Amino acid sequence: MSRVGTTERPLRVAVVGAGPAGFYAAAAFLEQTEVAIEVDMLDRLPTPYGLVRGGVAPDRPKMKSVTRLYEKSAEHPNFSFFGNVELGRDVSVGDLLVCYDQVLYAIGNEADRRMGIPGEHLTGCTPAAVFVGWYNGHPDYRSARVDLSCRRVAVVGNGNVALDVARILARSPEELRVTDIAEHALSALCDSRVEEIVVLGRRGPLQASFTPAELRELTELRAARVQISAEELALDETSRAQHDRARPRDPRRQNVELLTKIARSTPPRARRTIRLRFLVSPLELLGDERGSVRAIRLEHNRLVEQRDGSLGAVGTGQVEDLDAGWVLVSIGRRGRSTPGLPFDEQLGVVANIDGRVVDLETRAIRPNQYCAGWARSGPRGLIATSKVASAEVVARMLADAARGSVMEADRGGRAALESLLRDKGVRYVTFEDWKVIDRVEIQRGLARGAPRSKLVAIPEMLDLVEMKRRGW
Ligand SMILES: Cc1cc2nc3c(=O)[nH]c(=O)nc-3n(C[C@H](O)[C@H](O)[C@H](O)COP(=O)(O)OP(=O)(O)OC[C@H]3O[C@@H](n4cnc5c(N)ncnc54)[C@H](O)[C@@H]3O)c2cc1C
Repeated sequence: MSRVGTTERPLRVAVVGAGPAGFYAAAAFLEQTEVAIEVDMLDRLPTPYGLVRGGVAPDRPKMKSVTRLYEKSAEHPNFSFFGNVELGRDVSVGDLLVCYDQVLYAIGNEADRRMGIPGEHLTGCTPAAVFVGWYNGHPDYRSARVDLSCRRVAVVGNGNVALDVARILARSPEELRVTDIAEHALSALCDSRVEEIVVLGRRGPLQASFTPAELRELTELRAARVQISAEELALDETSRAQHDRARPRDPRRQNVELLTKIARSTPPRARRTIRLRFLVSPLELLGDERGSVRAIRLEHNRLVEQRDGSLGAVGTGQVEDLDAGWVLVSIGRRGRSTPGLPFDEQLGVVANIDGRVVDLETRAIRPNQYCAGWARSGPRGLIATSKVASAEVVARMLADAARGSVMEADRGGRAALESLLRDKGVRYVTFEDWKVIDRVEIQRGLARGAPRSKLVAIPEMLDLVEMKRRGW
């Protein structure tokens, strides 16, 4: 290996994106001892932690405690945080490649998948990411239009995020108050008139992608009961055989068993009902004279074996209109194209081979550029999943550097980035600055017995940081 990687000239790495993938990569860099390294992490928000802060449901405090580990990396002397710096807006790919030896993009999947059906433009059809961002106080969505005046909400999708949004809609004000839910969302949800939340799955109960723990949690809600029709729960022959073959701990088998138990029970009356529906696909959203959603047209499905042995949903022609004043679409995420980064439109990820960024057309490796997390793989896997995946990419980056892929050019790293940001007038936030925001949020949360009450506007965060810097 060249001089790069020694204490005199550490390997200088920029990690773009302060979510789990970015932080696990930073930890892998900082924990290894082969190469002297400096890691600078950039995020477009002044706050770190990506979807742990802006996606994971507020009633999941244990899940969020993973940030304590990330904090450890952030406190490492060879780590710096540059919040409120957006790749493609404040800095370009070219800028980063001038300042750093290697760049790792861990920018997640920030766009939604659409259903592509008529009526999706109607008021009252909202991507789940918007609702999730709104209740989690993500600055992008703090002013989202969320109207909770209708009686019935339909949630399209059958994954954990669909259950998250159903659960948050069903929780009582007392349950929500002690979470870190954004103040605006708490107050709107306290006045919610929603009585029924219908979760719509395209395939059958055995194919649902939510996990048993999430399903079980629905049955433990204080102010809501869960209902499932025995007819939709009945397994077709192939699903039955797959179910019987599955190991007892197989999550799909556990789901079916739990769903059967729920269908057979008679839960006490509750303020709200969560209805789990299967084998139905949205065909169209129907609007009223004001251009707002009034119903969702569904087609009933049956399951048909595909070439790969999986079961796919095929419409039976039987159609039903389900009245609903609000439709939340939770059918997955995809990445957003970023200027200067090759973007695979089909997969919705940064174009890559095993985490090495490649040219879209030639598939040739773009030297010194890598990607990790959902930006690399799409929206698959839990927070913990990105630990191993990020470590793998870091191992490749270090191996490439050891093979001499990093030129000995005098890249300025941190000092060069700081000077670039100053020249461009970008108000960046350091990790110390974030800790100021963090402390204020925790203090604000005390009043309602919550772990924190988030600041949701970027100018408010930056003003707070500025005041602290000036010693006010
Ligand atoms: C609604 C929801 C709930 C979830 N709940 C759970 C759960 O309970 N448990 C669990 O284990 N997993 C959960 N997950 C999955 C988990 O959040 C992901 O596995 C994980 O966050 C992916 O990490 P990431 O770092 O790839 O992306 P992200 O967490 O999305 O981080 C990406 C970061 O990149 C930043 N960024 C984006 N673009 C730019 C740019 N141009 N310039 C600079 N910065 C940029 C973003 O601000 C963000 O901080 C949930 C996911 C969702 C969507």
